[in-house]
Amino acid sequence: MEAIRTTCAYCGVGCGIEATVTGPRNVTIAGDPAHPANRGRLCSKGTYLGETVGLEGRLLRPMIGAGAVGWDRALDEVAARLGETIAEHGPDAVGFYVSGQLLTEDYYVVNKLAKGFVGTGNIDTNSRLCMASAVAAHNRAFGEDVVPCSYDDLERADLIVLVGSNTAWCHPVIWQRIEQSRAERGTKLVVIDPRRTETADRADLHIAVAPDGDVALFNALLAALWQRDVVDHDYMETHCDVPADLLSALDCDPGIEPAQFARLVDLVAAHPRMVTMFSQGANQSVSGTDKGNAIINLHLATGRINMPGAGPFSITGQPNAMGGREVGGLANILACHLGFSSGERAAVAEFWNAPNICAGPGLKAVEMFEAVHSGKIKFLWVMATNPAVSMPNAGFVREALRKCPTLVVSDIIADSDTARLADIRLPALAWGEKDGTVTNSERCISRQRALLPPPGEARADWRIVCDVAQRLGHASAFDFAGPAQIFGEYAAMTGLARDAGYALDLTAWANCTVEGYDAMQPFQWGGLTPFAGGYSHPDGRARLVAVDAVTAGATEDEAFPLRLNTGRYRDQWHTMTRTGLSPRLGLHRREPLLEVHPADAKANGLTDDGFARAHTAHGQATYRVRFHDGQRPGEVFVPMHWSGLTGGQSGTGRLVHPLVDPVSGQPAFKNVAARITPVVPGWRAFVLTREPLSAPILASAIYWAQARIEGGWLTEIAADGAVDLDGLLPEGARGEAADRKRGMQRIVVQGADGSLEAGLYLTRSGVLPARDWIVRQFARPDAAIVELLAARPSVPAPDRGALVCVCHDVCENDLLTAIGTGSDNVKAVGEATRAGTNCGSCRTIIASLIDRIAHDQKEGAE
Ligand code: SF4
Repeated sequence: MEAIRTTCAYCGVGCGIEATVTGPRNVTIAGDPAHPANRGRLCSKGTYLGETVGLEGRLLRPMIGAGAVGWDRALDEVAARLGETIAEHGPDAVGFYVSGQLLTEDYYVVNKLAKGFVGTGNIDTNSRLCMASAVAAHNRAFGEDVVPCSYDDLERADLIVLVGSNTAWCHPVIWQRIEQSRAERGTKLVVIDPRRTETADRADLHIAVAPDGDVALFNALLAALWQRDVVDHDYMETHCDVPADLLSALDCDPGIEPAQFARLVDLVAAHPRMVTMFSQGANQSVSGTDKGNAIINLHLATGRINMPGAGPFSITGQPNAMGGREVGGLANILACHLGFSSGERAAVAEFWNAPNICAGPGLKAVEMFEAVHSGKIKFLWVMATNPAVSMPNAGFVREALRKCPTLVVSDIIADSDTARLADIRLPALAWGEKDGTVTNSERCISRQRALLPPPGEARADWRIVCDVAQRLGHASAFDFAGPAQIFGEYAAMTGLARDAGYALDLTAWANCTVEGYDAMQPFQWGGLTPFAGGYSHPDGRARLVAVDAVTAGATEDEAFPLRLNTGRYRDQWHTMTRTGLSPRLGLHRREPLLEVHPADAKANGLTDDGFARAHTAHGQATYRVRFHDGQRPGEVFVPMHWSGLTGGQSGTGRLVHPLVDPVSGQPAFKNVAARITPVVPGWRAFVLTREPLSAPILASAIYWAQARIEGGWLTEIAADGAVDLDGLLPEGARGEAADRKRGMQRIVVQGADGSLEAGLYLTRSGVLPARDWIVRQFARPDAAIVELLAARPSVPAPDRGALVCVCHDVCENDLLTAIGTGSDNVKAVGEATRAGTNCGSCRTIIASLIDRIAHDQKEGAE
């Protein structure tokens, strides 16, 4: 069995993988030591990709309504409805909402169909939610959307500044590279983030900036550097246009403590080799584009760009957000970095031989769903994304999808919140079955290769689009034999970008052969310093942009005095349709937590581990409460992942306002006016089942959250009123223990063959038992029913504490023992316990534990 070199399905780091097929739907995963992005490393999500390649939950046949149909029938229906919509209402009554999960080849053909053949600019992507502000900032500063850095710069920098990025969780392999650089070279780390995350916890300097305070901070920082004459006047004179009002814009309060600001200025002044990495915390804001430009201004003004170890580095969230940007899969880009001038439109129309080149930019994501809601868009095709959960104002978006005369969804998942509303569902290929390319955050293009045959009747996204295009009468333009031919056409098209003076140039791959494409090694277009020969504005000069330090975002409203921030968990991805299938990835966090400063919790009557409802002007959602003194007072944090399938009452998208950055159209997910109220349910329970729980009681529960565990599912429930046990538990012989005084009830259900089928632990007023030991028993064929009812082993075992290392099953107390007996660094702890020696995602926690023990010992000695 030979390993196949491919690329991870998840984040924008774009790690290379060596995958070995070991059975019909079994794949073992290892990091690819030859891939430049990760050099063999993988985080937990990449490591456990093999747990997500099964067919559980897959859409395997085309569906019209609830009925399975053949491909011809489904494609005829899509083409007929699309054609009718265009004929009756014009091309702008059509919209395509696509995804950074698509491969570049998929993106290319759907963009070609929309902008050249349907004739609408209404194609946007969920990448709009992730990095559109960085795109706009690049375009303003450089004249082209190009990231001017590489991961290697992290190993050459003396100072790394992370802005709005919990890198240790969201881009873990970049974090591992940063940690290595710090250990080997003493690289300094500054983290600018309102929250004290695991990343911020490890920084030399953590600045808990106020939400949307980044522009003020970077403006003031540049002003201070100017005062100290740390700026590079020669560089600015030779390579940049500096607006006359820049210095007055820089004159602002940094918004942080003077001593902390002075430390920041000292660090930045002392380290010319400086990389500033920024991510969703900066981008998802009403001032996201300005934040990007404030960061880029600093690098241009100090000449810290186009040299090793320096530059402004936007990190993308999704595996192929960058590929989508390159081909033009955003509503405000025509194709291949080209815009909508008459010359560019004519060049693209000629290249594609396109009969209906669109007249101009289309609607960006939030506008697109508004147009669906208002009835302007009557045909919407959603590919590989779940906007009913992930869009801001998700309740409104759901309403829009419900109202849309034709909603087509191509996806790998049969049942998602969006798929439930579709008129037509088309089965697409999943990671492991797809063949094509992706581009990561450092412009490195890698092959994603098929490991497994297509299941059922699933088809590649590019092929589905071509099949529809051919039915619309565009056979020759969409007559692609495979992804190699599509990539070759796309690469040839970048010649238009090159000829227009842009850096994007893949023409070396124009008309590549299938063999050449199959053998493609990861390569970075534009090289390490893509602007070394000049920027992409017509005069070759970069632009500093005067950006005002307006802290906008959540409006002041007495009814909503708190600021709600949203984000990701380390081991989950988007709406958990894939990572939610992995028992290992479920171990890190099984429930959606509302993280709140203890002072706010007290003021609002919350209890740690209790429940709270977050309210905004747009909706409400319920979460488990977690006190966290790393939250700034006045701010709360909730995760984005839970959906109607995994926790219907915890849909964060419903809470988020539809405010967007005026330049980029990116929604502001990080600063929403909110209030919180305590929720005290009549009873709480957790249920272990072999199949996902779909009891009617979930619909009326105050809160529920479902997680994959070894051998089944674990569902947490909080509700009022009567408990319908029959709806919760399967048929079978029941063993029961109860304590009516405390309102405690435990039931274990066995099948006819004595197998353990389900367990229920319920209380009305007491404390539920710890989950981990019970969950472990559920995976064992010989679990003792008596022990399960007692919720503890008959022979007492030591408390191992919270699980830290998912890969090697190492808990907090195991680590504390190792640290207490002399393992005083992460490597030594790894040697003693194996923790952190596989995916490495837990190394940050281990390092924090070591620091905590050292700190406690020092305090004890004093
Ligand atoms: Fe995948 Fe993790 Fe690498 Fe991101 S950092 S590409 S999720 S292995």
